[in-house]
Amino acid sequence: MPLQFTTLTDLRAEITQRKQQGQRIALVPTMGALHEGHMSLVRQAQKLADCVVVSIFVNPTQFGKNEDFNTYPRQLEQDIALLSAQKVDVAYLPDSSQIYPDSFATHISVSPTLTSVLCGAHRPGHFDGVCIVVAKLLLQSLADIALFGEKDFQQLQIIRRMVEDLNIPTQIIGAPTARAQDGLALSSRNQYLSPAEREIAPALYRILVHTAQVLHHIPENYNQQLTNAKNELIQAGFTSVDYLEWIDTDSLQPASHTTRSRRLLVAAYLGKTRLIDNIEA
Ligand code: AMP
Repeated sequence: MPLQFTTLTDLRAEITQRKQQGQRIALVPTMGALHEGHMSLVRQAQKLADCVVVSIFVNPTQFGKNEDFNTYPRQLEQDIALLSAQKVDVAYLPDSSQIYPDSFATHISVSPTLTSVLCGAHRPGHFDGVCIVVAKLLLQSLADIALFGEKDFQQLQIIRRMVEDLNIPTQIIGAPTARAQDGLALSSRNQYLSPAEREIAPALYRILVHTAQVLHHIPENYNQQLTNAKNELIQAGFTSVDYLEWIDTDSLQPASHTTRSRRLLVAAYLGKTRLIDNIEA
């Protein structure tokens, strides 16, 4: 079983002691409902550090008013069993008072060029919520390194920017997206999918891969290719497409065939479930 702490005081006491012994601390922040994607981050963390802390906190400030905060899956017992099987050292399970005490009055806002595009355009305020909780968890855990999934690519790039800008002394490491055999990116929200929707869902990755290949061969005509891909998603059974964009990985601004490092990012609804994915392109 991992050591389980629900207060910052208890977490800090443990971490301080381990640091005095020269241990290197890795943090894997999560919202729980753990799956193989989270566990792949944990395994990478175990290779890079002496002590792995997994935090589980469903962060209210990153959910919009009409989003799924209340229904987000919470399955702590199962999560602890998974962490236990993977021999995780510490589970940090703060309640809201440890993150947002009554007197809390601080805001972190990364430039809109990074936070108001892509998911940010459809989820106003979302990345402000992500930034404040991640900054707090990094500082609370005194982590030497922290791991984040490329699955949430925009989030990863915004966190890199924030950590560098605020000189937070934690190294941020991005980890590849873990997928089901049919290509669907693993996500806690996949639980929302009906069996029929789950059959349609892998089209998201399939269409991304196909579009990336087309863009590789005919990059000049990219607007048309992106429109075609959005139509393919609807034809495959997706309800609507929030965005499908070909972007520069650092600036998150639209790419062209001269951009050095590019990625395709997508967010689309399948019924009421919003799925996101991205690949190098
Ligand atoms: P979440 O619990 O969804 O907030 O995710 C916690 C961390 O796990 C984030 O850094 C995510 O990017 C990462 N993550 C979620 N799904 C996957 C996946 N399929 N592969 C790799 N990392 C993931």
